[in-house]
Amino acid sequence: MSKTILITGASSGIGKAAALHFAAHGWNVVATMRSPEKETDLAGLENMLVTRLDVQSPETIDASIAAGIARFGAIDAVVNNAGYGQYGVFEAITPEQVQTQFDVNVFGVMNTIRAILPHFRERGEGMIINISSGAGRFTLPLISLYNASKFALEGFSEALSFELAALNITVKIVEPGGTTTNFIKTSEERFSAKPLPEYDAFLGAAFKMFDNLKGMQLATAEQVAETIYQAATDGTDTLRYLIGNEDFKRRVENRLSLPDQTYIESIKAAYLPFMGGKGG
Ligand code: NAP
Repeated sequence: MSKTILITGASSGIGKAAALHFAAHGWNVVATMRSPEKETDLAGLENMLVTRLDVQSPETIDASIAAGIARFGAIDAVVNNAGYGQYGVFEAITPEQVQTQFDVNVFGVMNTIRAILPHFRERGEGMIINISSGAGRFTLPLISLYNASKFALEGFSEALSFELAALNITVKIVEPGGTTTNFIKTSEERFSAKPLPEYDAFLGAAFKMFDNLKGMQLATAEQVAETIYQAATDGTDTLRYLIGNEDFKRRVENRLSLPDQTYIESIKAAYLPFMGGKGG
């Protein structure tokens, strides 16, 4: 019998690619999104149920799970993919923006897991795949809020994996590096631009640092979807799956293997030279 997966944030990017990838491999897919009325590529595909789910609205999570079970009989796996980056210097980000970053990237994941667990417990099995990021493993200037949300997701997922393993429920974390989706545009649009002139030199230097990273080869949403599929089907209890180019993987490895202060100095060395003596 076909297995069934529920995916959040399936309107675009990694979530949509994952919906198509699992469907192409014979899975039933509950492709959930905030605005299903706008979706035209997934709706109507065989074994695809498109539902409205806003991770900030627990009622829509419950309704999507119920609709998935009603249509396909059970849900075997959930991919917590919905997310975005609230970029900008911390002081320029409003408390409301901080709250929303955590509401979507952290509390939305927790709410979705809380909602699916009774079903998984009843069945005596289940799988949860949380989409984190390199930003869940290493820090960079200008993304303190996104870093905080993905570090929280990493710690939560790792600790949760222990208690759920006892119930035959597997938790996995997929960590993409830069990926060609709407993410960068959405994050740039949300960039907090409150004028705080004391940060101007830092901002200019940090932007130059990111410009230097822009030539880096990005993964495609389809490649990340393939990794999510591997995580769901490889039959192991491996916790983390990295997906990105060699430079990205080296950054994650460096964060683990370099002495802490050496890593911190390496990041400072990437932007301080652009500050023209200020703060350098
Ligand atoms: P994307 O194309 O912008 O997709 C993000 C998805 O999240 C969209 O479907 C969006 O829905 C949805 N979403 C946002 N807020 C939501 C909410 N409150 N409730 C439900 N859905 C919501 O970007 P993506 O790259 O595929 O991002 C997917 C995941 O990958 C995110 O968790 C992101 O942090 C992670 N990631 C991305 C990259 C990258 O470079 N692209 C790298 C590492 C990790 P709408 O269409 O309604 O806005």
